[in-house]
Amino acid sequence: MTTDNQQPTTSNQQLLFGWSIVGHENIVEYLETSILNNKLTHAYLFHGPGHIGKRAVAQKFISSILCEARFQKKDVIEKDTKYPILPCKKCVSCKEFERNIHPDVYWLKKEKDEKRDALKKNISIKQIRQLHDRLAMHSFLRGYKIAVIEGAEALSEEAANALLKTLEEPTPQTIILLLASKIEALPSTIISRCQVLKFGLVRQDKISRWLQKIGVQKEEAEIFSSLSLGKPGRALSFFEDKDNFLDYKKKAEEFIEIIKENILKKFTIIENFLPRKMSVIETTLMLNEILDIWESLLRDLILIKNSSKSNITFRIANIFIKEKLEKISGKYDNLQIVGLIKEIKKTREYLSQNVNPRLIMENLVLNF
Ligand SMILES: [Zn+2]
Repeated sequence: MTTDNQQPTTSNQQLLFGWSIVGHENIVEYLETSILNNKLTHAYLFHGPGHIGKRAVAQKFISSILCEARFQKKDVIEKDTKYPILPCKKCVSCKEFERNIHPDVYWLKKEKDEKRDALKKNISIKQIRQLHDRLAMHSFLRGYKIAVIEGAEALSEEAANALLKTLEEPTPQTIILLLASKIEALPSTIISRCQVLKFGLVRQDKISRWLQKIGVQKEEAEIFSSLSLGKPGRALSFFEDKDNFLDYKKKAEEFIEIIKENILKKFTIIENFLPRKMSVIETTLMLNEILDIWESLLRDLILIKNSSKSNITFRIANIFIKEKLEKISGKYDNLQIVGLIKEIKKTREYLSQNVNPRLIMENLVLNF
Protein backbone atom coordinates (compact mmCIF):
# COMPACT_ATOMS: atom_id res chain seq x y z
CA MET A 1 0.00 0.00 0.00
CA THR A 2 1.17 3.47 -0.74
CA THR A 3 0.47 6.67 1.11
CA ASP A 4 0.49 10.24 -0.17
CA ASN A 5 4.07 10.67 0.90
CA GLN A 6 5.19 7.66 -1.02
CA GLN A 7 3.69 8.39 -4.40
CA PRO A 8 4.73 5.51 -6.63
CA THR A 9 7.23 6.61 -9.22
CA THR A 10 9.35 4.81 -11.71
CA SER A 11 12.62 6.03 -13.11
CA ASN A 12 11.67 6.04 -16.78
CA GLN A 13 9.64 9.17 -17.55
CA GLN A 14 8.68 8.08 -21.06
CA LEU A 15 4.97 7.36 -21.30
CA LEU A 16 4.12 4.00 -22.74
CA PHE A 17 0.67 3.86 -24.27
CA GLY A 18 0.18 7.43 -25.43
CA TRP A 19 -2.67 8.39 -23.06
CA SER A 20 -3.37 12.03 -23.83
CA ILE A 21 -3.52 13.27 -20.25
CA VAL A 22 -2.31 16.73 -19.26
CA GLY A 23 0.01 16.58 -16.23
CA HIS A 24 0.01 13.73 -13.65
CA GLU A 25 2.96 12.10 -15.46
CA ASN A 26 4.06 9.96 -12.50
CA ILE A 27 0.58 8.58 -11.94
CA VAL A 28 0.06 7.83 -15.63
CA GLU A 29 3.40 6.10 -15.89
CA TYR A 30 2.77 4.08 -12.75
CA LEU A 31 -0.63 2.89 -14.00
CA GLU A 32 0.63 2.15 -17.50
CA THR A 33 3.52 0.15 -16.08
CA SER A 34 1.13 -1.77 -13.82
CA ILE A 35 -0.95 -2.76 -16.84
CA LEU A 36 2.09 -3.70 -18.87
CA ASN A 37 3.52 -5.87 -16.10
CA ASN A 38 0.09 -7.22 -15.20
CA LYS A 39 0.55 -6.02 -11.63
CA LEU A 40 -2.89 -4.63 -10.91
CA THR A 41 -4.20 -4.06 -7.40
CA HIS A 42 -7.69 -4.87 -6.18
CA ALA A 43 -8.53 -1.30 -5.14
CA TYR A 44 -7.31 2.18 -6.06
CA LEU A 45 -8.13 5.56 -4.59
CA PHE A 46 -7.59 8.60 -6.81
CA HIS A 47 -7.87 11.79 -4.80
CA GLY A 48 -7.34 15.47 -5.46
CA PRO A 49 -9.42 18.60 -6.20
CA GLY A 50 -12.33 18.50 -8.65
CA HIS A 51 -11.72 19.06 -12.39
CA ILE A 52 -8.11 18.00 -12.04
CA GLY A 53 -8.17 14.87 -14.21
CA LYS A 54 -9.09 11.94 -11.94
CA ARG A 55 -11.97 10.82 -14.16
CA ALA A 56 -9.96 11.27 -17.36
CA VAL A 57 -7.14 9.08 -16.00
CA ALA A 58 -9.65 6.52 -14.68
CA GLN A 59 -11.23 6.25 -18.13
CA LYS A 60 -7.87 5.64 -19.84
CA PHE A 61 -6.83 3.20 -17.13
CA ILE A 62 -10.01 1.13 -17.28
CA SER A 63 -10.34 1.07 -21.05
CA SER A 64 -6.67 0.05 -21.37
CA ILE A 65 -7.10 -2.81 -18.89
CA LEU A 66 -10.11 -4.09 -20.80
CA CYS A 67 -8.79 -3.42 -24.32
CA GLU A 68 -8.37 -6.58 -26.37
CA ALA A 69 -5.17 -5.23 -27.93
CA ARG A 70 -3.52 -5.70 -24.54
CA PHE A 71 -3.17 -9.41 -25.20
CA GLN A 72 -2.02 -9.22 -28.79
CA LYS A 73 1.63 -9.65 -29.67
CA LYS A 74 3.32 -6.29 -29.42
CA ASP A 75 5.09 -6.47 -32.77
CA VAL A 76 1.79 -7.15 -34.54
CA ILE A 77 0.18 -3.97 -33.27
CA GLU A 78 2.65 -1.19 -33.89
CA LYS A 79 5.71 -1.90 -35.97
CA ASP A 80 7.67 1.11 -34.76
CA THR A 81 6.81 1.11 -31.07
CA LYS A 82 7.71 -1.30 -28.36
CA TYR A 83 4.30 -1.11 -26.71
CA PRO A 84 0.71 -1.37 -27.91
CA ILE A 85 -1.41 1.77 -28.18
CA LEU A 86 -3.90 1.33 -25.36
CA PRO A 87 -6.82 1.78 -25.46
CA CYS A 88 -6.90 0.84 -29.16
CA LYS A 89 -10.37 2.42 -29.64
CA LYS A 90 -11.14 -0.21 -32.28
CA CYS A 91 -11.94 -3.44 -30.45
CA VAL A 92 -15.39 -4.43 -29.12
CA SER A 93 -14.38 -3.64 -25.56
CA CYS A 94 -13.10 -0.16 -26.43
CA LYS A 95 -16.20 0.64 -28.47
CA GLU A 96 -18.54 -0.49 -25.71
CA PHE A 97 -16.59 1.47 -23.14
CA GLU A 98 -16.75 4.57 -25.31
CA ARG A 99 -20.54 4.24 -25.50
CA ASN A 100 -20.84 3.68 -21.72
CA ILE A 101 -22.34 0.22 -22.25
CA HIS A 102 -19.40 -2.02 -21.33
CA PRO A 103 -20.98 -4.91 -19.40
CA ASP A 104 -17.99 -5.33 -17.08
CA VAL A 105 -17.75 -1.68 -16.04
CA TYR A 106 -19.95 -0.50 -13.21
CA TRP A 107 -19.83 3.27 -12.74
CA LEU A 108 -21.47 4.48 -9.58
CA LYS A 109 -22.12 7.97 -8.22
CA LYS A 110 -24.73 9.96 -6.31
CA GLU A 111 -28.19 9.30 -7.73
CA LYS A 112 -30.67 11.95 -8.66
CA ASP A 113 -33.53 12.71 -6.28
CA GLU A 114 -36.39 13.12 -8.77
CA LYS A 115 -38.64 14.87 -6.25
CA ARG A 116 -36.16 17.63 -5.52
CA ASP A 117 -34.62 17.66 -9.00
CA ALA A 118 -31.19 17.59 -7.39
CA LEU A 119 -28.56 15.02 -6.51
CA LYS A 120 -29.05 12.95 -3.38
CA LYS A 121 -26.83 13.78 -0.45
CA ASN A 122 -25.15 10.38 -0.24
CA ILE A 123 -24.18 7.26 -2.11
CA SER A 124 -26.49 4.74 -0.46
CA ILE A 125 -25.94 1.29 1.01
CA LYS A 126 -28.39 -0.03 -1.60
CA GLN A 127 -26.07 1.15 -4.36
CA ILE A 128 -23.08 -0.56 -2.72
CA ARG A 129 -25.05 -3.81 -2.28
CA GLN A 130 -25.94 -3.76 -5.97
CA LEU A 131 -22.28 -3.20 -6.75
CA HIS A 132 -21.31 -6.13 -4.53
CA ASP A 133 -23.80 -8.44 -6.32
CA ARG A 134 -22.59 -7.28 -9.70
CA LEU A 135 -18.94 -7.94 -8.84
CA ALA A 136 -19.86 -11.43 -7.61
CA MET A 137 -21.13 -12.35 -11.08
CA HIS A 138 -18.95 -13.64 -13.90
CA SER A 139 -17.30 -11.22 -16.25
CA PHE A 140 -19.21 -10.89 -19.51
CA LEU A 141 -16.15 -10.51 -21.70
CA ARG A 142 -13.94 -12.97 -19.77
CA GLY A 143 -11.71 -10.22 -18.41
CA TYR A 144 -11.70 -7.90 -15.42
CA LYS A 145 -14.82 -6.50 -13.79
CA ILE A 146 -14.22 -2.90 -12.83
CA ALA A 147 -16.26 -0.71 -10.51
CA VAL A 148 -15.79 3.03 -10.17
CA ILE A 149 -17.20 4.99 -7.26
CA GLU A 150 -17.13 8.63 -8.25
CA GLY A 151 -17.40 11.21 -5.46
CA ALA A 152 -16.57 8.51 -2.90
CA GLU A 153 -16.53 11.10 -0.10
CA ALA A 154 -20.34 11.02 -0.35
CA LEU A 155 -20.58 7.37 0.78
CA SER A 156 -23.02 7.18 3.69
CA GLU A 157 -21.63 5.58 6.84
CA GLU A 158 -23.57 2.37 6.17
CA ALA A 159 -22.47 2.38 2.54
CA ALA A 160 -18.83 2.81 3.57
CA ASN A 161 -19.13 -0.14 5.97
CA ALA A 162 -20.66 -2.30 3.26
CA LEU A 163 -17.92 -1.28 0.84
CA LEU A 164 -15.30 -2.18 3.42
CA LYS A 165 -16.63 -5.76 3.46
CA THR A 166 -16.31 -5.91 -0.33
CA LEU A 167 -12.76 -4.60 -0.10
CA GLU A 168 -11.86 -7.08 2.63
CA GLU A 169 -13.04 -10.07 0.63
CA PRO A 170 -11.98 -9.31 -2.92
CA THR A 171 -13.35 -11.50 -5.68
CA PRO A 172 -10.73 -12.46 -8.28
CA GLN A 173 -10.35 -10.35 -11.44
CA THR A 174 -12.15 -7.37 -9.95
CA ILE A 175 -10.89 -3.83 -9.50
CA ILE A 176 -12.56 -1.11 -7.46
CA LEU A 177 -11.60 2.47 -8.19
CA LEU A 178 -12.58 5.23 -5.80
CA LEU A 179 -12.47 8.84 -6.98
CA ALA A 180 -12.61 11.44 -4.22
CA SER A 181 -11.93 15.14 -3.88
CA LYS A 182 -11.76 14.99 -0.09
CA ILE A 183 -9.77 12.04 1.16
CA GLU A 184 -10.28 13.15 4.77
CA ALA A 185 -14.00 12.38 4.40
CA LEU A 186 -13.24 8.68 3.85
CA PRO A 187 -12.80 6.20 6.73
CA SER A 188 -9.15 5.26 7.25
CA THR A 189 -10.16 1.59 7.09
CA ILE A 190 -11.14 2.08 3.45
CA ILE A 191 -8.12 4.21 2.57
CA SER A 192 -5.72 1.63 3.98
CA ARG A 193 -7.11 -1.03 1.64
CA CYS A 194 -6.50 1.04 -1.47
CA GLN A 195 -3.53 1.96 -3.58
CA VAL A 196 -3.68 5.71 -2.96
CA LEU A 197 -2.76 8.09 -5.78
CA LYS A 198 -2.79 11.81 -5.11
CA PHE A 199 -3.55 14.15 -8.02
CA GLY A 200 -1.84 17.53 -7.69
CA LEU A 201 -2.42 20.81 -9.54
CA VAL A 202 -1.15 20.96 -13.12
CA ARG A 203 1.20 23.74 -14.24
CA GLN A 204 -0.50 26.54 -16.12
CA ASP A 205 1.85 26.46 -19.13
CA LYS A 206 1.15 22.73 -19.56
CA ILE A 207 -2.59 23.38 -19.53
CA SER A 208 -2.18 26.19 -22.06
CA ARG A 209 -0.12 24.02 -24.43
CA TRP A 210 -2.62 21.18 -24.10
CA LEU A 211 -5.55 23.51 -24.88
CA GLN A 212 -3.76 24.75 -28.00
CA LYS A 213 -3.14 21.16 -29.04
CA ILE A 214 -6.86 20.43 -28.92
CA GLY A 215 -7.67 23.48 -31.02
CA VAL A 216 -7.99 26.47 -28.68
CA GLN A 217 -6.54 29.75 -30.04
CA LYS A 218 -3.38 30.86 -28.23
CA GLU A 219 -4.88 33.98 -26.64
CA GLU A 220 -7.91 32.10 -25.31
CA ALA A 221 -5.71 29.22 -24.15
CA GLU A 222 -3.72 31.72 -22.06
CA ILE A 223 -6.89 33.22 -20.56
CA PHE A 224 -8.51 29.87 -19.75
CA SER A 225 -5.33 28.29 -18.38
CA SER A 226 -4.76 31.33 -16.14
CA LEU A 227 -8.27 30.93 -14.77
CA SER A 228 -7.92 27.16 -14.38
CA LEU A 229 -6.20 27.34 -10.98
CA GLY A 230 -4.18 24.31 -12.07
CA LYS A 231 -7.25 22.27 -12.97
CA PRO A 232 -7.34 21.20 -16.63
CA GLY A 233 -11.05 20.32 -16.46
CA ARG A 234 -11.87 23.85 -15.35
CA ALA A 235 -9.93 25.34 -18.28
CA LEU A 236 -11.68 22.94 -20.64
CA SER A 237 -15.12 23.87 -19.32
CA PHE A 238 -14.45 27.53 -20.15
CA PHE A 239 -13.58 26.50 -23.70
CA GLU A 240 -16.40 24.00 -24.24
CA ASP A 241 -19.09 26.13 -22.66
CA LYS A 242 -18.71 29.74 -23.74
CA ASP A 243 -21.62 30.77 -21.47
CA ASN A 244 -19.58 29.53 -18.56
CA PHE A 245 -16.79 31.98 -19.40
CA LEU A 246 -19.21 34.85 -20.17
CA ASP A 247 -20.86 34.27 -16.82
CA TYR A 248 -17.48 34.36 -15.07
CA LYS A 249 -16.58 37.56 -16.92
CA LYS A 250 -19.86 39.21 -15.94
CA LYS A 251 -19.34 38.34 -12.28
CA ALA A 252 -15.78 39.70 -12.37
CA GLU A 253 -16.97 42.96 -13.93
CA GLU A 254 -19.72 43.30 -11.32
CA PHE A 255 -17.05 43.03 -8.66
CA ILE A 256 -15.09 45.92 -10.19
CA GLU A 257 -18.33 47.95 -10.16
CA ILE A 258 -18.96 47.08 -6.52
CA ILE A 259 -15.50 48.36 -5.65
CA LYS A 260 -15.95 51.58 -7.61
CA GLU A 261 -19.55 52.51 -6.74
CA ASN A 262 -21.25 54.05 -3.69
CA ILE A 263 -23.14 52.00 -1.09
CA LEU A 264 -26.52 52.36 -2.75
CA LYS A 265 -25.21 51.12 -6.10
CA LYS A 266 -23.29 48.29 -4.39
CA PHE A 267 -26.55 47.08 -2.81
CA THR A 268 -28.40 47.33 -6.14
CA ILE A 269 -25.78 45.12 -7.82
CA ILE A 270 -26.22 42.51 -5.09
CA GLU A 271 -29.99 42.78 -5.34
CA ASN A 272 -29.71 42.06 -9.07
CA PHE A 273 -27.61 38.96 -8.82
CA LEU A 274 -29.50 37.38 -5.93
CA PRO A 275 -32.01 35.11 -7.63
CA ARG A 276 -35.61 35.10 -6.52
CA LYS A 277 -36.49 31.53 -7.38
CA MET A 278 -33.65 29.43 -6.10
CA SER A 279 -33.37 26.97 -3.25
CA VAL A 280 -31.15 27.84 -0.29
CA ILE A 281 -28.65 25.17 -1.36
CA GLU A 282 -28.42 26.55 -4.89
CA THR A 283 -28.15 30.15 -3.67
CA THR A 284 -25.35 29.19 -1.29
CA LEU A 285 -23.56 27.33 -4.07
CA MET A 286 -23.85 30.31 -6.42
CA LEU A 287 -22.70 32.81 -3.79
CA ASN A 288 -19.72 30.63 -2.93
CA GLU A 289 -18.79 30.63 -6.60
CA ILE A 290 -19.01 34.43 -6.66
CA LEU A 291 -16.88 34.66 -3.53
CA ASP A 292 -14.24 32.45 -5.19
CA ILE A 293 -14.13 34.88 -8.12
CA TRP A 294 -13.91 37.91 -5.82
CA GLU A 295 -11.12 36.33 -3.81
CA SER A 296 -9.18 35.51 -6.95
CA LEU A 297 -9.58 39.14 -8.16
CA LEU A 298 -8.35 40.48 -4.81
CA ARG A 299 -5.30 38.22 -4.97
CA ASP A 300 -4.60 39.58 -8.44
CA LEU A 301 -4.89 43.13 -7.08
CA ILE A 302 -2.10 42.36 -4.59
CA LEU A 303 0.07 40.94 -7.39
CA ILE A 304 -0.58 43.96 -9.62
CA LYS A 305 0.23 46.42 -6.83
CA ASN A 306 3.48 44.66 -6.01
CA SER A 307 4.47 44.17 -9.65
CA SER A 308 4.56 47.93 -10.16
CA LYS A 309 6.55 48.42 -6.96
CA SER A 310 9.15 45.73 -7.52
CA ASN A 311 9.43 45.72 -11.32
CA ILE A 312 8.64 42.02 -11.33
CA THR A 313 5.63 40.95 -13.34
CA PHE A 314 3.65 38.36 -11.41
CA ARG A 315 1.30 36.11 -13.34
CA ILE A 316 -2.24 37.00 -12.46
CA ALA A 317 -5.23 34.67 -12.84
CA ASN A 318 -7.67 37.12 -14.39
CA ILE A 319 -5.59 38.41 -17.30
CA PHE A 320 -8.73 39.14 -19.38
CA ILE A 321 -9.60 42.00 -17.01
CA LYS A 322 -6.07 43.17 -16.19
CA GLU A 323 -6.47 46.80 -17.31
CA LYS A 324 -9.58 47.34 -15.20
CA LEU A 325 -7.84 45.81 -12.20
CA GLU A 326 -4.85 48.08 -12.70
CA LYS A 327 -7.14 51.11 -12.67
CA ILE A 328 -8.63 50.27 -9.28
CA SER A 329 -5.44 48.88 -7.73
CA GLY A 330 -4.66 52.20 -6.01
CA LYS A 331 -7.82 52.10 -3.92
CA TYR A 332 -6.45 49.77 -1.23
CA ASP A 333 -3.06 49.02 0.29
CA ASN A 334 -1.83 45.43 0.72
CA LEU A 335 -3.05 45.11 4.29
CA GLN A 336 -6.53 46.29 3.37
CA ILE A 337 -6.75 43.70 0.61
CA VAL A 338 -5.65 40.94 2.98
CA GLY A 339 -8.37 42.18 5.36
CA LEU A 340 -10.97 41.95 2.57
CA ILE A 341 -9.93 38.38 1.77
CA LYS A 342 -10.42 37.53 5.44
CA GLU A 343 -13.91 39.07 5.30
CA ILE A 344 -14.70 36.84 2.31
CA LYS A 345 -13.60 33.78 4.27
CA LYS A 346 -15.88 34.82 7.15
CA THR A 347 -18.74 35.30 4.69
CA ARG A 348 -18.31 31.71 3.48
CA GLU A 349 -18.68 30.52 7.05
CA TYR A 350 -21.87 32.55 7.59
CA LEU A 351 -23.28 31.14 4.36
CA SER A 352 -22.67 27.61 5.60
CA GLN A 353 -24.64 28.49 8.75
CA ASN A 354 -27.78 29.37 6.78
CA VAL A 355 -27.87 33.05 7.72
CA ASN A 356 -29.93 35.22 5.32
CA PRO A 357 -27.77 35.39 2.15
CA ARG A 358 -28.71 38.97 1.22
CA LEU A 359 -27.81 40.24 4.67
CA ILE A 360 -24.48 38.44 4.58
CA MET A 361 -23.56 39.81 1.16
CA GLU A 362 -24.62 43.35 2.06
CA ASN A 363 -22.51 43.20 5.19
CA LEU A 364 -19.57 42.02 3.13
CA VAL A 365 -19.72 44.77 0.50
CA LEU A 366 -19.89 47.43 3.22
CA ASN A 367 -16.18 46.66 3.61
CA PHE A 368 -15.36 47.48 -0.01
ZN1 LIG B 1 -9.30 -1.82 -27.62
